[in-house]
Amino acid sequence: MDCIFCKIISNEIPSVKVYEDDRVFAFLDINPLNEGHLLVIPKAHAATIHEITEADFMAVAAATHKLSAAVKKALNPEGINLMQLNGEVANQVVPHLHVHIVPRWSGDGLTICKWKLVAGDMEKIQAIGEQIKEAIE
Ligand code: AMP
Ligand code: ZN
Repeated sequence: MDCIFCKIISNEIPSVKVYEDDRVFAFLDINPLNEGHLLVIPKAHAATIHEITEADFMAVAAATHKLSAAVKKALNPEGINLMQLNGEVANQVVPHLHVHIVPRWSGDGLTICKWKLVAGDMEKIQAIGEQIKEAIE
């Protein structure tokens, strides 16, 4: 399967993983909109909400709930955006379903849901990943 996120799950492409269970994988976005920007994905490939099974989507939702709590505990954002884009017209770039968890702070200037990709500092991303992992309950 020529899918970048499937390759992340199988470890062919490295990632800063924060969470994994039998159905779900979660890692830091390498072009973070803010510190602690996470992606939560199903292990079984599904391009969009229209392909994913209900059981996998529920598992992604449960992990998103757990990881949002970890982000709150680790980074204490004032708010969190959850985003899940389906189709090019909706600005989906990677065709493997993913939920974005984006911590928000007042004055961060973000405009959701269309943005430019700006590479983050990998050392900082690693450190934040550790912080969030430690906060998972
Ligand atoms: P979307 O527009 O919802 O499809 O967003 C795709 C997201 O995947 C973007 O925020 C990218 O920064 C992110 N992304 C792409 N490749 C990688 C990668 N190898 N590791 C982590 N995040 C990635
Ligand atoms: Zn995939």
